[in-house]
Amino acid sequence: MWVRLAVGLCCLVLGCQGQGRTASLRKANDDFTGRCQYTFTVDSPAESSCPQAGAGGPEDEGVRTRLTLLEALVSRLMGERGGVVGEAGLRTAEEEEEVEEEEVGQLQQDKERLSRQVQDLQRRLEELTLETEQLRQRPCHQPQPPRLSTPDNDPAFQLGSGAFQEMKAELSEVPAPPQIQQGQNQAITSTKAQTTSSFTGCGVLVSVQPPVTHRKADSITGKYGAWFQDPEPLGQPYGPKTVWRIDAVGKEVKQLFAYEDMEQLIRGFPMKVLPLPEAVESTGATVYRGSLYYQRRLSRMLIRYDVATESVAARMDLPHAGFHGQHPYSWGGYTDIDLAVDERGLWAIYSTSKAKGAIVIAKLDPESLEVTKTWETNIRKNTVANGFMVCGRLYTVASYSLPNTTISYMFDTDTNQSSAISIPFHNRYHYNSMIDYNPGNKKLYAWDNYHMVTYDVKLAQSDSIP
Ligand code: CA
Repeated sequence: MWVRLAVGLCCLVLGCQGQGRTASLRKANDDFTGRCQYTFTVDSPAESSCPQAGAGGPEDEGVRTRLTLLEALVSRLMGERGGVVGEAGLRTAEEEEEVEEEEVGQLQQDKERLSRQVQDLQRRLEELTLETEQLRQRPCHQPQPPRLSTPDNDPAFQLGSGAFQEMKAELSEVPAPPQIQQGQNQAITSTKAQTTSSFTGCGVLVSVQPPVTHRKADSITGKYGAWFQDPEPLGQPYGPKTVWRIDAVGKEVKQLFAYEDMEQLIRGFPMKVLPLPEAVESTGATVYRGSLYYQRRLSRMLIRYDVATESVAARMDLPHAGFHGQHPYSWGGYTDIDLAVDERGLWAIYSTSKAKGAIVIAKLDPESLEVTKTWETNIRKNTVANGFMVCGRLYTVASYSLPNTTISYMFDTDTNQSSAISIPFHNRYHYNSMIDYNPGNKKLYAWDNYHMVTYDVKLAQSDSIP
């Protein structure tokens, strides 16, 4: 190749010299492109008489031909001198590498900036979520009549947001119960009962009136709870008008609120807040003969708390009773042990492993809490919403949430038999967590989704009673 180039260049130079002209070839580096630059120069024989551009002529034509040949040679030479071109190419690669490094650095910075933005957004999202939760737990302000005090004045509403007790509520409703032990049980119907409007004695339950709302809890701790009036109070300082209330949402429920009467409950000022020595489990408590009876949290222990002396008067394990979610009512809420009072005394409604989830009824000594007698029913505890005793009979409500449900079972401790019944019952606020009977005024006390309500009931003498 170098031979051909040399020959070509010699021919050109000789050709030029043969015509009385001189030619030269220069090689230099182009600082801008990094490439080798070759310059071929031919002297004009008579510079002053150079033809005008485009005039042409044999002499110019020859020069052009030689230039073309030279360009071709230079092009080939540059193609073969990869080292020179390669050198320029290497620099370009380095520059490209530098550019790439700069771009990578820039992208890395962008990534770090975006990461910080994501972290800021996540932090903001968490703040908004917390704020939303706090707003959700804050009850809507209810307009109060001028004579009423604001809930802010009620210590019952100063418990903070509290924590929800774990719930095991069934989402599906319990279907209407089938007949139980056909042929063995007696279905109590209103046609069998001899209803009289003036009947005040013990009898069968024949109807439940629509609920009367007395108070709505304003705090989340009052979503469910228990409230009562003592059917057989012992006297001062608490009488038959005293209203007792426990807001049952929270891990450590240890406050018993005492209101002088219903009016004070409505106004929102408790006359006293009694601190309980042991935490209350759920909504199964009751008040009877001057004592609060309740299940101690996380145990099967029953506690009798004397409200006058504000001390524990008795404590006793309820033998074999399931607790803390083993055998709750259908809505959950650790309603394993439900205490009840009726005309005959104090009862416990619960279940055991031996009973395999069927309701067991225990008659309790109200002084010592000892079990005096038990009955095992064939009513599955977790298929009913709640239970209460009236005149020695257990009644269970089918649904805690359906507005129009029924009292669907009755178990008679006298005959040891259960019956399927159907007495309309109204869950006005769709989340009834406590229902108890007060034999003193023959009303049902219930806690329905923040609302404390009562139901008037009608009893009737029945020919089924021996
Ligand atoms: Ca109950």
